[in-house]
Amino acid sequence: MNAEHPDALYVHIPFCRHICWYCDFCRTVYSEAQADAFLAALDKEFSLRKFSVQLDTIYVGGGTPTSLNERQLERLLQLLAPYAREVREYTVEINPETLSEEKAALLAEYGVNRASIGMQSSDAGLLKLMNRRHTFTDVQSCTERLQRHGIENFSLDLMYSLPGQTMKMLESSVEDALSLNPYHLSLYSLSIEENSVFGKRGYEALDEETEADMYEYICRRLQQAGYEHYETSNFARDGKRSLHNTVYWQYRDFYGAGCGASGKEGNVRYDLTRSLKEYIQDPLKRQDTVLTPQEQYFEALMMSLRLREGLDKARFFRMFGVSIDDVYRDEIAEECRRGMLVNTDERLYCTDRGWNLLNEILVDFIA
Ligand code: SF4
Repeated sequence: MNAEHPDALYVHIPFCRHICWYCDFCRTVYSEAQADAFLAALDKEFSLRKFSVQLDTIYVGGGTPTSLNERQLERLLQLLAPYAREVREYTVEINPETLSEEKAALLAEYGVNRASIGMQSSDAGLLKLMNRRHTFTDVQSCTERLQRHGIENFSLDLMYSLPGQTMKMLESSVEDALSLNPYHLSLYSLSIEENSVFGKRGYEALDEETEADMYEYICRRLQQAGYEHYETSNFARDGKRSLHNTVYWQYRDFYGAGCGASGKEGNVRYDLTRSLKEYIQDPLKRQDTVLTPQEQYFEALMMSLRLREGLDKARFFRMFGVSIDDVYRDEIAEECRRGMLVNTDERLYCTDRGWNLLNEILVDFIA
C-alpha cells in the first residue's frame, strides 16, 4: 500500500526523575542500573533492526531523555550518531531541571538542533500540584543554556485546563512563555487518565466551556504575537514547524525504537513492549496491528485534517492508489455543504468552524 520508505525515527527513553501526577505515558523512575540495561537493549535493537541511515528527522522523547546521566546520554547519542548524519531536524525532549551545562554541550556536539521543553505552566502552585520539580526560572536557565551551545530552535509545551487554573494564571503562563521567544509552542489540554495519580485521586479537569475559552485565548494571543497556527495544537514562528511531527500528521511512515515506542511501516502499526523488564530481555518484542485499507484511509484523513492546510490529495493517491473523493464522496459533500470542509483539486481542509469541531466531523466520517 504505502511504498514510502520511513525517513523519520522516534526513540523512546522510558525514564523520568519524578513522575508527574497527570502522566500515564510509558515511563518509570530513573535508576542508573536500569538505564544502563535499557541502553544495552536499545543498542541490540538497533543492530538487529537495521534502520535506514538516510533519515530526515530524529525525535528522542519519553519519559525524559535528559534524565539519563551524562555518560548514558553520550552513549545514547553515540548510538544514534550514524543515523543523524543527514537529518534536517534532530529533537530531544527536555525537562528543564535535568539539563546540566555538560548535557547541553553533549547535545550540541552530537548534532541535536532542536529541543522540546516541558514548561507546562509558569505558576509555581500548579507545577507543584502536578508534581513537577521545576520553576519558570529553571525553564529560562534551560533555554539560555541551550542557546549558549548553539541550540536556538526550541519548542515549549504548555498545558491548560488544569485543576484550579484560572484565566489569569493561564494568561501569565502564556506571557512568560512568549518572553522566552520560542520558535514553537505545543498546547496540551489536561485529560485525566485513569492510571495517573490525578485519576486515582479523583482530580477533575476544568469544565468544557472553560477549556474551550482557554484554548481560544491561547490561539488568539499566539497568533497576535506572530505565530502561525499550523496544526490544531501547534504554533510556529519563522517557518519552524515541527518536521518530525508533520510526518505523523501527513500519515507518513516512521520507525519507532525503544521501550514503549510505536512505529508505522506501510499497513503495519507496531507497539514495542511497554514493560521495561520485557524490553531488556527482548528489545524486538512488539505487537503488530495490520491496518485494513479503510482504516488507513480514515487515519490519514483524521491526522491530515489537524493541519491547517489539510490533506494533500495527490499524496493520498500516491499512498493508496485511490482518490479521497472516491473513498468519501458523500461525506465530503455533506461536510462542505455544512461549511465544515473545503474541497479543492489539490486539498481537503477544514474551515475555521470545522477545525474547532474536528471530532464531530470525524464521527460523521466513521458513521
Ligand atoms: S516528565 Fe513527561 S513522561 Fe515524565 S512523568 Fe512527567 S509527563 Fe510523564
